[in-house]
Amino acid sequence: MAQVRLDQVSKTYPGGVQAVSPMDLQIAHGEFTVLVGPSGCGKSTTLRMIAGLEEVTGGQVHIGDRMVNDVEPRDRNIAMVFQSYALYPHMSVAANMGFGLRMRKLPRAEITTRVAEAARILGIGELLDRKPRALSGGQRQRVALGRAIVRDPEVFLFDEPLSNLDAKMRVQMRTEIARLHHRLGATMIYVTHDQTEAMTLGERIVVLKDGVVQQVAAPMELYERPANRFVGGFIGSPAMNFLPGRLERNDGLALICGDGRTVWPLPSGFTPPETLLGRNLVLGIRPEHIQVGNGGGLPAALQVSESLGNETLAYFEVAGRPVTARCGGQLDAAIDAELSLSLQPAHIHLFDTGEAGANLLAKG
Ligand code: ADP
Repeated sequence: MAQVRLDQVSKTYPGGVQAVSPMDLQIAHGEFTVLVGPSGCGKSTTLRMIAGLEEVTGGQVHIGDRMVNDVEPRDRNIAMVFQSYALYPHMSVAANMGFGLRMRKLPRAEITTRVAEAARILGIGELLDRKPRALSGGQRQRVALGRAIVRDPEVFLFDEPLSNLDAKMRVQMRTEIARLHHRLGATMIYVTHDQTEAMTLGERIVVLKDGVVQQVAAPMELYERPANRFVGGFIGSPAMNFLPGRLERNDGLALICGDGRTVWPLPSGFTPPETLLGRNLVLGIRPEHIQVGNGGGLPAALQVSESLGNETLAYFEVAGRPVTARCGGQLDAAIDAELSLSLQPAHIHLFDTGEAGANLLAKG
């Protein structure tokens, strides 16, 4: 069984940068876990501590039943795939893929069999005699994946493996990695700054900020119930809209926006706890949960709209803040047209105004 467990694992680099605050994390056998967050949040450091490429400052790393703090990377039964591919330029694809096995002195025939099998899985059988320079970026990354697969590790570690690829190839490789996980059933830990990659690949996502875990949850749980304002704003594209204001009851419930002059009527289906009335907070709503219509909501002038064919992004300003709405199909309205914005009751989020921005509607 190759579960991975971090108990209070932390990292402070020489010079005093605390890259990772004491972190507890349990990754089940066979699970695909993604560590995601903005640049510098400590994702790579965490992964490298699991790999053994970076010493932990505190805490314990367990892989399977072993505490591996003092185990060398090559003895941890892991394989790592890097953004830079890290292929040997003078070796053929086959030699690159088999390199680790040759170092471990496996019989030649077994190496050949394992390389051929990995090449078949990845569809690179016809490239085995080529040198890396004769390969495209996507093919190189497949070779790097192949080199990991032949080792038959207990845990695969991926450090931004798709960042050097163009957008189309990234999408293709993303689906290949998902299929690979399905096929091998291995434990995989994947680091990325890209929330789309995290959402599409992860069975469980760990969101990090400034070396601190913000939330650990399945993709849709993160999307629908972000633990705080940071997670709400980081997951989802275009990003969630945030409007500071105060909840008050006039006719119905309304958000009195920051400037006090803008009153956004809230739908009758939205029933927050009474304790939140009169309190300063931040309302969060995703672009796809704002309905753009001709009445009933908050009147707002269309600033600009972008048609993407299947949908339209419409940009507004409410109480001095940008608000983006996402409409299915085409939006038949000119710039400066007066439209109305209504919020879908089930998708309104309320966050604390403080730095942590806790989700005030989260249960438990
Ligand atoms: P991420 O992978 O999320 O971009 P990193 O784990 O690479 O973040 O870095 C986390 C923090 O640790 C950053 O502030 C970074 O500058 C710092 N850091 C990373 N590596 C080193 C190092 N070798 N020495 C000192 N500080 C480092």
